[in-house]
Amino acid sequence: MTTSAELIEMSERRSAHNYHPLPVVIHEAHGAWVTDVDGKRYLDCLSGYSSLNFGHGHPKIIEAARTQLERLTLTSRAFYHDQFAQFCAGLGDLTGKDMILPMNTGAEAVETAIKVARKWGYEVKGVEPDQANIIVMEGNFHGRTTTIVSFSTDPEAHDNYGPYTPGFRLVPYGSAEAIRRAVDANTVAVLVEPIQGEAGVLVPPDGYLSEIRELCTAQGILMVADEVQSGLGRTGQTFACDFEGVVPDIYILGKALGGGVVPVSAIAADREILGVVQPGQHGSTFGGNPLACAVGIAVIELLNTGEFQARAAKLGEVLHARLRELVGKGVVEVRGRGLWAGIDVDPNLATGREVSKALLARSVLAKDTHGSTIRLAPPIVVSEEDLIWAVSQLADALYALS
Ligand SMILES: *Cc1c(COP(=O)(O)O)cnc(C)c1O
Repeated sequence: MTTSAELIEMSERRSAHNYHPLPVVIHEAHGAWVTDVDGKRYLDCLSGYSSLNFGHGHPKIIEAARTQLERLTLTSRAFYHDQFAQFCAGLGDLTGKDMILPMNTGAEAVETAIKVARKWGYEVKGVEPDQANIIVMEGNFHGRTTTIVSFSTDPEAHDNYGPYTPGFRLVPYGSAEAIRRAVDANTVAVLVEPIQGEAGVLVPPDGYLSEIRELCTAQGILMVADEVQSGLGRTGQTFACDFEGVVPDIYILGKALGGGVVPVSAIAADREILGVVQPGQHGSTFGGNPLACAVGIAVIELLNTGEFQARAAKLGEVLHARLRELVGKGVVEVRGRGLWAGIDVDPNLATGREVSKALLARSVLAKDTHGSTIRLAPPIVVSEEDLIWAVSQLADALYALS
């Protein structure tokens, strides 16, 4: 049998080093727990960056996938298939939007939103040819394509990938005033994460999203919310924008939309906006395929019960109450909403990576973001007992490092 150390060595030898995984080789997973090749169990507190909101192998998602897998998996959009209508209608109803444009990955959905906003700008708003600009936020994370990394402020994501795509204006996250100052006649959209995930689960000041909404409406600009990580139950609401009762013009969705099974992403918008895309003007071979739609329908049905949102809200209170107790005990600050927390560890104590490793040794899978920040985002199906146990492991790990 191949040992875990051998599998890691072989993986490093034959794969590009664009990730720096924690030294665990996962073999199997159910619900909130994963098992490695040696049979050791870990509580998953990353959930595939919130792709596994409903847990590993949720029976309804797996059942939908299995049934579809045996019947029809791919047609391309050259033809209709029998899962497509229900997926679009379901996601349209969930977002309250007229139309859906399905893609696969989050980055592709962000690219789609950028293209649609520009096209809308030229064809509906009347922006001068090739002059459209989109206001984006410092600290953003929207994916890894060349256009998207062009406006990343993270040197690792950005540097040496030029020449960069023009047409983006960076402003500080959390200041509606900064957006107001950046707007001009050629501004077509404001692209914002309602909570910045990769930046360290940064929750903007109260009123920020509503101010963006008002500003966009007043100026005739599209508000585009990247809910790829914040959406679909994670925060205790269906969308993080719901906390301010804000409805963006375009929702960007991904990650959990694929139920942890297949990549499924989409943008949702009303007809005045998405109607600008005509046949041949945008597409994807795999976007909206039957397997993706069947899984997406199962995810939407789970969200329609409201159970996951309610559970994330309830368990989120438990999580944040326990984490707040750690402030001053190795933790400098805790942020987040629902079952999503960014924890700034005292940098004198340890780096985020060191804390992640200490948690791994204590059977908790978590990942650092920048510097000394750890994020916790367990599957929403996690039990309250396991959640409390995970926080106690963090407390122990911090105590051991001090
Ligand atoms: C993960 C993420 C993306 C990119 O999704 P991929 O599927 O990795 O391309 C985009 N936006 C946000 C907010 C994300 O968290």
